[in-house]
Amino acid sequence: MKLQVFNSLTRQKEEFVPLRGKKIGLYTCGPTVYNFPHIGNLRTYIFEDILKRALKKNGFMVKHVMNVTDVGHLVSDADEGEDKMESSAMAQQKTAGQIANFYLKIFKADIRKLNIKSPNTWCRATDHIREQINFIKGLEEKGFTYRTSDGIYFDSSKITDYGKLANLDLTGLKAGARVEASIKKKNQTDFALWKFSPANKKRQQEWKSPWGIGFPGWHIECSAMSQKYLGETFDIHCGAIDLKPIHHTNEIAQSEALNDAPPARYWIHGEFLDLGDTKMSKSKGGFITLDDLIKKKYNPLAFRYLTFATHYRTKMNFSFEALDSAQKTIDNIYKDISTWSRPSKGSAEYEDKFFSAVNDDLNMPKAIAIMHDMINDPKLGTARKKRSILKFDSILGLDFAKVRKQAIKIPRHIQKLAHDRQTLRVAGQYDQADIIRQQMEKIGYSVNDTAEGPTISRI
Ligand code: AMP
Ligand code: ZN
Repeated sequence: MKLQVFNSLTRQKEEFVPLRGKKIGLYTCGPTVYNFPHIGNLRTYIFEDILKRALKKNGFMVKHVMNVTDVGHLVSDADEGEDKMESSAMAQQKTAGQIANFYLKIFKADIRKLNIKSPNTWCRATDHIREQINFIKGLEEKGFTYRTSDGIYFDSSKITDYGKLANLDLTGLKAGARVEASIKKKNQTDFALWKFSPANKKRQQEWKSPWGIGFPGWHIECSAMSQKYLGETFDIHCGAIDLKPIHHTNEIAQSEALNDAPPARYWIHGEFLDLGDTKMSKSKGGFITLDDLIKKKYNPLAFRYLTFATHYRTKMNFSFEALDSAQKTIDNIYKDISTWSRPSKGSAEYEDKFFSAVNDDLNMPKAIAIMHDMINDPKLGTARKKRSILKFDSILGLDFAKVRKQAIKIPRHIQKLAHDRQTLRVAGQYDQADIIRQQMEKIGYSVNDTAEGPTISRI
C-alpha cells in the first residue's frame, strides 16, 4: 500500500504524491520558546516524526524545516496583548534572547530523548526579519495591506476563499460585524503583518522597517521562512489543530496573495493531548514536561510508545496509569528481545501488515497491535521476529537495536528435559511431551516450538 495521509485542505485521505520526484519538503511549525515545552507539544512532534520516518520508508528524501518562534507571538490570537517572549523575559528579568536560548535548548534535548529526528534546518524568526519585511513589502505592492495606528494589517476580504483550510464560517466575521472587538481592523479576520512598538515604551526586540520601528506578526515568519528554505510551494505543512483556523489559515492567505500559488500541497494536523478534560497549554500553565516524567523514573520512550496507542487525529487523554502500562509494555518487549536469537530473515507477512498500517494515514494503534501479534506468535522463530521488529523500529524509534542480548543460562537439567520432550514429540507421543512441558513450567521455564526448533525461556 502506498502512503496515504489525511489532507486538512481537502478533508480527506489522499495518496501522497510528491511535487518534485523523490525530494520532498516538510515544514513543521516549531516551538514558541517562552516557556518549557510540555508533553502535549511533544505529542505533536512525535506524530510529525512518524510522518517523516514513514516518508523515508516510502523512499522519499525529506528536507525538514522547523521554525523557532522567538518574537511576535502575542498572548491573544487577535493580535493584541503582550508578546509572549517579552513578558516571559520581563517576569524572569532576562533578555528575550536569553529566554529563547534557554527554552530552545530544553526543546532540543527533549526531542533527542524522544528519538525525534532533528530537522535539517532550524530557523529563528529573529534571524529572518529582512525576509519578513520583504514579504510584507510584496504584499503591500500587490495591494493586500493597510495601515492602522498600531501596525500593518493584511486585508483578508481581498481573498475570495479566505478560511478554506478550516472551512471557517465567515458569517459574522466579515467586514463590519463584530469589528468593535478590535476597532483597529477593517475585518475581524484581518491580521497583523507588522506591529509598531508602543509609543510610550521601548521593546526589547524591535527593528526598523519601511513602516516604522516594530516587530513582525506571528504568521509572517512561517510564510517567509518556509518560502526561503523550501520554495513557494512545497509538499507538506504540519502542526496541531489549534493552528488550523488562524495561523495556517493566515499563512495560506498571505502566501497565495503574494505568489498566486499555494504554500503547501498537504496540510496535516494532529489532535491535542489533554490533561483531564482540557487541552494541555503552555500559556495556562499546570502542564507536564518530559523532565517531570524522567524525574518520576519513566523512560521518555515509554511516553513515545504511549502516544502510538491513540491515532494522531484523535484526542489523547494523558494519565499516569496509561503511562505505567506503556512503561511495563516496552520493558517487556525489551526483555523479550534480549532473549531472542540473532536476526535471520524477517516475516514478510507481519512486515507487510505493519507497514501497510503505517501507510494508512499513520495508523499506529493498528501497527503496534500487529507488532504484539508477531511477538506473541508461537509459530514464528525468535530470529525472524528479531529481524522484523528491528525493521518496525525504523518507524517506532524505540531503540530496539540497542537491546543487548542477555545470555540467559539454561541449567543442564532443564536442557535435558527440553531434549527429552522433543524426542517424545518427534516420536508422536504428544501427551507425554506435554507432561514434561508442564513440569518445566512449574520450575519457571517455558518452551516454545518455533520453525527453528524449540526455544527455552525463563517465565
Ligand atoms: P507552541 O510552542 O505553543 O507554539 O506549540 C508548539 C506545537 O505544539 C504547535 O504545533 C502546537 O499546535 C502544538 N500544541 C500545543 N498544545 C498542544 C497540545 N495540548 N497537544 C498537542 N499539541 C499541542
Ligand atoms: Zn507556523
